[in-house]
Amino acid sequence: MTVITSISTRIIDIPIIRPHKLSFGSIQSQSYCIVRMELDSGIVGWGEAATIGGASWNEESPESIQHAIDSYITPVLIGKEVGEFESLLELMEKCCRGNYFAKSAVEMAAIDATARSLNIPAYQLLGGKKNQSLPLAWTLATGDIDKDLREAHLRLEQRQHQIFKIKIGAKKPSEDVALVVEIAKSLQGKARLTVDINQAWDGNTARRYVPILSDAGVDLIEQPVARWNTQALQELCQMSISALIMPDETVCTPQDAVMLSRLGAAHVFSLKVSKHGGLLRTRKVAAVAEASDIGWYGGTMLETSLGSAASAHVFATLGGVNYGCELFGPQLLVEDIVEKPMQIKDFHLIIPDGIGFGVEINERQLDRFTRKS
Ligand SMILES: [Mg+2]
Repeated sequence: MTVITSISTRIIDIPIIRPHKLSFGSIQSQSYCIVRMELDSGIVGWGEAATIGGASWNEESPESIQHAIDSYITPVLIGKEVGEFESLLELMEKCCRGNYFAKSAVEMAAIDATARSLNIPAYQLLGGKKNQSLPLAWTLATGDIDKDLREAHLRLEQRQHQIFKIKIGAKKPSEDVALVVEIAKSLQGKARLTVDINQAWDGNTARRYVPILSDAGVDLIEQPVARWNTQALQELCQMSISALIMPDETVCTPQDAVMLSRLGAAHVFSLKVSKHGGLLRTRKVAAVAEASDIGWYGGTMLETSLGSAASAHVFATLGGVNYGCELFGPQLLVEDIVEKPMQIKDFHLIIPDGIGFGVEINERQLDRFTRKS
């Protein structure tokens, strides 16, 4: 028996290298709830949950995540066997509805602690490393086309990224789409393009502009409509265009995944560990994708190297068809909280080996960025 003896949380705020603009706002720094879980053996595991723009991406925020863990989750998990992940998830589900980001951070720490206890990489607990590396996307979100293009060409030159995601939805659709068309022209034949609208369009706007994005050469079109608008997603999937429709905010639970599969309302799922409620549930959503002939894409909530490495570990285990990943959060931060960040080589993110998630926390850095209450 190796039991959980303590779970503590803190919020950290790390500035980012440039403003990151999305349909719902612009961020200057990124906030995280970091979980430290200690076992009776003395081994420590780490977990993390990030949200984008406080509570603007969905209902959870770093503060709500910390509150859910400290007030409800921690009291029921103390003294429980750390390696019984499914039982831990069930206990969390009973004491705390929803709050998937919070549960995900705790499960991540439990899996890290267990892998460290066994002296193995976490991917071995999750099915084993099937993918050695994943194509790594970068997001163009400065809101300025010249800056976006400079960034894209530099990253192509540095052989870091060959997939670019453009965040639109804040401006008039005609202006946004014109910007994408111009970027697509400049990168034609050199890179693959994804456009993320973050729910900003209504069905009619999407039906009008999605074909134009597709004609411009955009490969993946992410969450063009509100997360409830499965009817529009279904209609977009039925259009005879070459671009693929990728729900993100709509696909959180395994039940969402089954619903989208039944409706034929997705070509690709954007997977994110936090919104699914952890690494094991990410595998469940991915299993629905694989069984439904739906592809997957490794999404990000702009996690630090800790959360990104945890995501990389589970994405490394997944079968089915993947469209790469966007675990570039660490590159957007001015500083990191781990000793050695993950490697990028020839446009690919290398899945880190080593025990746990293959990254070591630098506690001095954590202290530096901890929010003063
Ligand atoms: Mg998205």
